[in-house]
Amino acid sequence: MSLNPIATQSDQIAQEIYQLIFQLYPICRSITGNGFRETLKILQQHIPLSVQKVPTGTEVFDWIVPKEWNIKDAYIKNSQGEKIVDFANSNLHVLNYSIPIHQKLSLPELKSHLFTLPEYPDWIPYRTSYYKESWGFCLTHNQYLQLEDEEYEVCIDSSLEPGYLSYGEYFIPGESTEEVLISCHACHPSLCNDNLSGIAIATFIAKYLSQTTPRYSYRFLWIPGTIGSITWLALNEAKVNNIKHGLVLTCLGDSGNFTYKKSRRGDTEIDKVAAYVLNNSKQDYKIIDFFPYGYDERQYCSPGFNLAVGCFMRSPHNTFPEYHTSADNLNFVQPQYLADSFFQCNSILHILNNNKIYYNKNPKCEPQLGKRGIYHAVGGNKDSGLNEMAILWVLNLSDGQHTLLDIAERSGMSFDVIQSAADILLTHDLLTIKNS
Ligand code: ZN
Repeated sequence: MSLNPIATQSDQIAQEIYQLIFQLYPICRSITGNGFRETLKILQQHIPLSVQKVPTGTEVFDWIVPKEWNIKDAYIKNSQGEKIVDFANSNLHVLNYSIPIHQKLSLPELKSHLFTLPEYPDWIPYRTSYYKESWGFCLTHNQYLQLEDEEYEVCIDSSLEPGYLSYGEYFIPGESTEEVLISCHACHPSLCNDNLSGIAIATFIAKYLSQTTPRYSYRFLWIPGTIGSITWLALNEAKVNNIKHGLVLTCLGDSGNFTYKKSRRGDTEIDKVAAYVLNNSKQDYKIIDFFPYGYDERQYCSPGFNLAVGCFMRSPHNTFPEYHTSADNLNFVQPQYLADSFFQCNSILHILNNNKIYYNKNPKCEPQLGKRGIYHAVGGNKDSGLNEMAILWVLNLSDGQHTLLDIAERSGMSFDVIQSAADILLTHDLLTIKNS
């Protein structure tokens, strides 16, 4: 749609988002630990987000904040003392949340702790064991096939101890106390689409919005998946009523078409706005109904909250073979797709920001536009896309029932043209804003 800025800005934002992903890629993140906090510290170079810390053992609804996991090194050595699997080469080599271990094992004993992907023999799988104490290694299937029947030394220099769950939060006050929630999971190690793309795009949206005073207040969360949103909701229940709209951002850097997963309610304003933006994007896209799996929308849309939160993504999780493997790397996400995702998100937020409801102050028959100089304004602003029909549509449907998006859809005109017409009518005192 016409909201996309010119190409040079697009190139610049594309490079900036990609650079942030490049910088975050090597860090070994998990649902707790130093890697998560190091990630937030890098985001703080862009926006002054606050780092919240919740102690291990804190009860959050039916869950308990787990012990904090950290790791320094890990390897498997063969009988010659050669490192054949090395955490230093890829943090995906270790089963995320592995307990510490250092011992010698036979091949059959070792094999029960190994994970591979036979169908993609060059890729390392990503596996976790957050809530069951265990240890393991992930390796390529080709590495696995080369293992000989000998004695191996395995070492995981990790710790699993009382500590904290950390998350990043950034609040931008708007004209209203009503909030838009932007949430992304930030707990995956070296994986780009899922979800460094969401982390980076949320950061740049926050950076951009912080230079404005938006209509709504904005709350950004960079949280560990599942336990992070549960923790935030449990500790901030008093704030939840302010959240009027929300988006979970994930998988936004691949070449796939856009997918919008509707909120559980399915007919909320964010659902309508996202559908409108994608319908005007001149690209193929998919809109899918809510289902209770996926990302943190599961928690935001649990029946006790039932928030108007959808999930914005390109290829959904588990629909691309690179998902949760070492192939979800810096080649799998590309700057132009990241920039496109950034601009589509901004279009959604732009419309949400301006999607007001008005009253026509002169509802009995049409007001005489000529004597107010509005025809002149329309005629003199041909390039701005203003036109008489847009003025008439806004006047006719400004009955306190229709949003500007409703008017755009019913008239078949673009949102921006309808909004410009409303702005002109407002300056001529023919409309008043309906307070929400
Ligand atoms: Zn994932």
